Amino acid sequence: MSKSLQAIRGMNDILPEQTPLWRYFEGTVARLLDNYGYKQIRMPIVEFTELFKRSIGEVTDIVEKEMYTFEDRNGDSLTLRPEGTAACVRAVLEHGITGGGQVQKLWYIGPMFRHERPQKGRYRQFHQIGLEVFNLDGPDIDAELIIMTWRLWGELGIRDAVKLELNSLGTSESRGRYREALVEYLSAHHDKLDEDSQRRLKTNPLRVLDTKNADTQAVLVDAPKMADYLDDESRAHFEGLKARLDAVGIPYVLNPKLVRGLDYYSKTVFEWVTDKLGAQGTVCAGGRYDGLVEQMGGKPTTGVGFAMGIERLVLMLETLEQIPEEISRQVDVYLCAFGEHAELAGLALAERVRDQLPNLRLQVNAGAGSFKSQFKKADKSGALYALILGDDEMAQQVVGFKPLRGQGEQQSIAWDALAAHLATCVVQG
Ligand code: ATP
Ligand code: MG
Repeated sequence: MSKSLQAIRGMNDILPEQTPLWRYFEGTVARLLDNYGYKQIRMPIVEFTELFKRSIGEVTDIVEKEMYTFEDRNGDSLTLRPEGTAACVRAVLEHGITGGGQVQKLWYIGPMFRHERPQKGRYRQFHQIGLEVFNLDGPDIDAELIIMTWRLWGELGIRDAVKLELNSLGTSESRGRYREALVEYLSAHHDKLDEDSQRRLKTNPLRVLDTKNADTQAVLVDAPKMADYLDDESRAHFEGLKARLDAVGIPYVLNPKLVRGLDYYSKTVFEWVTDKLGAQGTVCAGGRYDGLVEQMGGKPTTGVGFAMGIERLVLMLETLEQIPEEISRQVDVYLCAFGEHAELAGLALAERVRDQLPNLRLQVNAGAGSFKSQFKKADKSGALYALILGDDEMAQQVVGFKPLRGQGEQQSIAWDALAAHLATCVVQG
């Protein structure tokens, strides 16, 4: 196929055989968020470029080199959103729904765009479910976010394969003091740092902490520790969070080098990581961003949130073979009709059944065909039962009811009794 007729590198089609697993995952998360009292918000996919520069930070990887930015026909600089927090903050400010200390517990789902090097678990269009809470500043809500994800891993059957890493970045004041100490220390070891870290030392020194370079990592062993610079408030907040995780029995690892790639975090930061996906091991990441709303022109409004990568989590369900059997079956009942007369009766009968059983997944054969070919299609559809309408059935106003999986003889069911009969033998999702 000519190149222009292929999908853009790093942007994937999600094919029909994959969508059941996506929908199962998304449905599980949506139900959980509903149950915890979170409300969905939907923001546009494109925003003014300035929004991301102001919120994510000019010298972050995302803004420096990963954004899909273009000029539209008016000459405005627009960007395909690389993440959801910025747009969510913009939306709550624009609509005044966090004013006067109003609490908002929001979530969103959708595609994000980053021009990164595509590889397994890392794409240029990927999907996140994200969540943001405004105007709750205690560690109890930070704990709730983590508890909720812990429950999600349990429901999905992947709890044993993920690990929680936790850190506190402190308030902007304490982070400022720490940054100074870190810069002083790293500057004294400037020559031993890799090139990227030397550059970051000037632009975004905290990011040096999560370098992958072994020499720089060796230098970091004796570097000042963030924990020693936390102010009392941040320390108490962090202790409060840990106490709540302990109370629920959620294990965590303290990772003093966890700083996250975005500029706006303060106090709590966390990541759920796995060793099942190779290098792209973070499946969910987030933290607190108490200064962000003000930085974006709003009144002081605290915030905390996270985002999870749907591709990575779906990949994990596949890798760990945690795919519920029910989701692969998409048809309960398949109706075969032979001859024009039976086909018309079949259509009407199917609609009557659907009236009574709106959740039944009933597929009516299309394209006519011989007994053999229709039966083959019924079997291939994955249906549990075939319904058969031929000349004999038409004459008696019954339908043949044939189990397709496992034992059971074919029976005849009167048209009027069909819905009631199906209700007893098909568990409806
Ligand atoms: P990473 O360290 O893997 O680059 P990040 O810190 O850039 O992740 P966030 O911006 O916090 O990631 O996004 C939250 C989650 O979204 C990540 O933990 C990951 O699961 C997912 N994610 C981020 N970037 C990508 C991508 N390019 N492709 C697929 N999933 C991604
Ligand atoms: Mg990244």
